[in-house]
Amino acid sequence: MNAAPQRSDFERVMVPNYAPQNFVPVRGEGSRVWDQSGRDYIDFGGGIAVTCLGHAHPALVKALTEQAGKIWHLSNVYTNEPALRLAERLVERTFAERVFFANSGGEANEAALKLARRAAYDRFGEDKYEIIAFDGSFHGRTFFTVSVGGQPKYSSGFGPRPAGITHLPYNDLDAVAKQISDRTCAVIVEPVIGESGIVPATPEFLAGLRELTRKHNAALIFDEVQSGVGRTGKLYCYEHYGVVPDILTSAKGIGGGFPLAAMLTTEAWAKHFSVGVHGSTYGGNPLGCAVANAVLDIIDTPETLAGVVKRADRMAARLNEIAAKSGAFSELRYRGLWFGWQLKPAFRGRAGEVLAAAAREGLMVLLAGPDVVRMAPSLVISDAEMDEGLARLERAVLSLFGG
Ligand code: PLP
Repeated sequence: MNAAPQRSDFERVMVPNYAPQNFVPVRGEGSRVWDQSGRDYIDFGGGIAVTCLGHAHPALVKALTEQAGKIWHLSNVYTNEPALRLAERLVERTFAERVFFANSGGEANEAALKLARRAAYDRFGEDKYEIIAFDGSFHGRTFFTVSVGGQPKYSSGFGPRPAGITHLPYNDLDAVAKQISDRTCAVIVEPVIGESGIVPATPEFLAGLRELTRKHNAALIFDEVQSGVGRTGKLYCYEHYGVVPDILTSAKGIGGGFPLAAMLTTEAWAKHFSVGVHGSTYGGNPLGCAVANAVLDIIDTPETLAGVVKRADRMAARLNEIAAKSGAFSELRYRGLWFGWQLKPAFRGRAGEVLAAAAREGLMVLLAGPDVVRMAPSLVISDAEMDEGLARLERAVLSLFGG
């Protein structure tokens, strides 16, 4: 038998667009992961807000393996039972009347932006194509979505960007009021910005966007790729605000770790994606949708959603203790089990060191830029796993910043 691949093989065989940690996880159960040497890690990263039920959840393993024994793939030349079941549930539980399935958040946003442009084109002609997006936002890595995202470092160096995209400061409604016009076809916004540090929209901002987009016949798109599927204690974050979008994108948590995404919308918008206008070979595949149905069985219950809030407050209290002991953090922002832990200016740029120190202590965390430690653990993490992870985090933080 060949020897197991090692982390050192990465540079030899992989495109160098990632710089993974120096261990290779091979197995997970709940909020614990083991590497090749058998060392265990507590997972506060959740695969970047994806594994919302932890690793190898028995209900998800059952749904996947049962479906695997029936039918894996059909293409969209046919429909399939798990996709129809999932769409039915999403329609029942949200503002949406129609669903389009894709495989990733970027693809769901690509579909949302194309839908907004196509609807505007059909209804008002070719001059209505402008898109308003926000500084610091992240919408995916396809060329359209990365151009719409508000982080030029990800979109520069690839030639001319698609035309008609304007970036404005987040939470600045006046700026939007000045920019928006009858040429605008869409405003796309994360209700809480994830990649730039868990920064929530103000209620006035989202309500104002709703009003302005309605006035100018533009689509209001909520990117809930990171904030959706229970992460903030509601099935979708827009429910906290009481502001309803025209299009909502969901990915990450929806498949609990199986690649799946959905674009939710109303019948009035959906009709502009008539047969052949958009598509995906794998979008809405039976395996992903079967898993997502099992995810919703567990997440979309009052007990689980209330549990998110309870767990979040418990974790936040301990994080604030660690912050006080270390003196290294200025603010803890959180919405449900989704934390952005801001380093003080004196420790600017050192979030990566926290990630590395946490790994040394047997803990997985995330970054949101160089100054923010981000965490997005399983929504059903046990108290014991949480406490163990927090103890490891405390050791990691104090090893760096004393206290
Ligand atoms: N939108 C948001 C808000 C995200 O956080 C992400 C990923 O981090 C994406 C879109 C892109 O999703 P994916 O990486 O699945 O394409």
